[in-house]
Amino acid sequence: SDQGEAVVAAVAAVADRLEAERSYLTDLDSAIGDADHGGNMARGWAAAAEAVADMADPEPGDVVKTAGKTLLSEVGGASGPLYGGSLVFASPELADGLTAETAVAFAETYLEKVQDRGDARIGDKTMVDALVPAVHTFKKSVEVDEMTPVEGLSKAVAAAERGVDFTVPIRASKGRASYLGWRSVGHQDPGATSTLYIMEELLGVAR
Ligand code: ADP
Ligand code: MG
Ligand code: MG
Repeated sequence: SDQGEAVVAAVAAVADRLEAERSYLTDLDSAIGDADHGGNMARGWAAAAEAVADMADPEPGDVVKTAGKTLLSEVGGASGPLYGGSLVFASPELADGLTAETAVAFAETYLEKVQDRGDARIGDKTMVDALVPAVHTFKKSVEVDEMTPVEGLSKAVAAAERGVDFTVPIRASKGRASYLGWRSVGHQDPGATSTLYIMEELLGVAR
């Protein structure tokens, strides 16, 4: 379908962006982690883009599921299962196609799975710090303020950006960065940053 092709295009756009940000994300992860987040994301999403490009008659939910499965098999560490597993888990929400309603359900289920799996809350200095304000803002914009999904996504991107900034002055309590304790303060979280980039690309394609 046209929607399925749009999701394939979104995965390709994400792959291109994360390749472009590879060294920056790795720099962020070298400060408070093990210097592999750029490679993990670039490699994983490139493989995902290849996998979904080969799909015959793609539908949104199937594309997301295939992308997630590919991330799961290509990327180890914390981020592979968090991104890949959560995309696979949330993909059935798009079974009836992409609408304002299914997009919100997908975003909420994705966030729920990230938090189930990683047990991180706001303030732990992880991707959750970008994701929670983004998902809440998206839902509120679409459901309460009756914005279009694209308008809602644009608000959500702005919220994710503030979430990324919020990770800088706080101490990590989850993931590798938590091993640094107070020395993690003053550094931007790599996973929150890649989450923002992915959302920016989704917005770019949706527009
Ligand atoms: P690894 O830390 O295994 O090398 P990556 O470097 O690819 O994996 O990803 C690190 C990112 O994963 C962190 O910046 C953080 O955003 C995210 N992360 C780590 N642990 C968790 C967790 N428990 N919950 C949510 N996100 C997490
Ligand atoms: Mg790492
Ligand atoms: Mg690692």
